[in-house]
Amino acid sequence: MKRKFETEAIRTQIKRSEFLEHSNPLYLTSSFVFEDAEDMRASFAEEKERNIYSRYSNPNSSEFIEKVCKMEGAEDGFAFASGMSAVFSTFAALLDSGDHILSARSIFGSTHSLFNQVFPKWNISHSYFQFDHLKSLEEQIQPNTKVLYAETPTNPGVDILDLEALGKFAKKHNLILIIDNCFATPYLQQPIKFGADLVIHSGTKLMDGQGRVLGGLTVGRRELVDKIYKYSRITGPALSPFNAWVLSKSLETLGVRVDRHCSNALEVAENLEKHPKVNWVKYPFLPSHPQYELAKKQMKAGGCVVSFEINGGISAGQIFFNSIRMLSLSANLGDTRSIVTHPASTTHSKLSSLERAECGISDGMVRISVGLEHIDDILRDIHSALEKV
Ligand SMILES: *Cc1c(COP(=O)(O)O)cnc(C)c1O
Repeated sequence: MKRKFETEAIRTQIKRSEFLEHSNPLYLTSSFVFEDAEDMRASFAEEKERNIYSRYSNPNSSEFIEKVCKMEGAEDGFAFASGMSAVFSTFAALLDSGDHILSARSIFGSTHSLFNQVFPKWNISHSYFQFDHLKSLEEQIQPNTKVLYAETPTNPGVDILDLEALGKFAKKHNLILIIDNCFATPYLQQPIKFGADLVIHSGTKLMDGQGRVLGGLTVGRRELVDKIYKYSRITGPALSPFNAWVLSKSLETLGVRVDRHCSNALEVAENLEKHPKVNWVKYPFLPSHPQYELAKKQMKAGGCVVSFEINGGISAGQIFFNSIRMLSLSANLGDTRSIVTHPASTTHSKLSSLERAECGISDGMVRISVGLEHIDDILRDIHSALEKV
């Protein structure tokens, strides 16, 4: 029988060294030695799979990649220094001048900037579709469209995109479907099951989950990963062995951590929904969420992010942020520490107010990344800040 997710997360391990260590060691080395002239020749001719130089591969990043491949049901992958280098290198390796990206409107801010500020230099264009208008995809497809791109749940609106519908559409039109699965993690959702060709992660968020390192990776179909590998081997965005070691270790506890993130987040969401000073709350596993059924179909639980709006607009929001005592005011998410953010003035401030409205971000919207502190303490901090509003 195939081993379960939690077991693979712990027992996927590179071969032990002569010291028979129990926990995997850190291979802090930039290069590897050859045994003789023939080994050197054959290694460079790629006749054997082995480590040559840590820009190409390293035992710690290989272990991290292998683990995530098993978690996502992917054939192969490559690990990057950050989530954004994974996003950038994946597109740059697969697209040619003249190609077009069809992307969901609500995507990570830096990915939006990549599409708007970087890719036009190489004549790579994009257009956006609304997450709940998948029917309009047929009209938006162009003869040069090569990639269909989306994130689900979205940031910060936690809207849900229908992965099965996206998978079918991509197959029908021969597009490469790429899903940024950072918000869900492979523990909650595996897009490859629904037809995604590639899955991208920022390891910086829930994968590390303790706010220590940057990292990212892309996993999926071998033929596509091979192109990404060849491109990245030359351009050099590789993950450092140390960060790979930290990330691979963190994955051992991904399941238990994400379970607690989700149960805490659901409690925060249910609690806020009853609060008189809150206009609305969005969380994928709240029955009031517009795509609740879809979320239940494709996700195991709702994730760590809850968004809500305080009655009283921007000024009420400012009082709330200034009254928070324990929760961190920070732009990150997926950390053991709970974090509150004001998307309109921080992560999404580069968007025009019209663009923000299209992503479902109002001026008074608050995003909470619910952490692993005791739920009573998290709720007490939120409640006492709301009292001051
Ligand atoms: C944070 C994030 C990224 C970028 O990851 P970095 O590691 O910060 O470069 C990409 N996509 C999503 C959805 C993210 O939340």
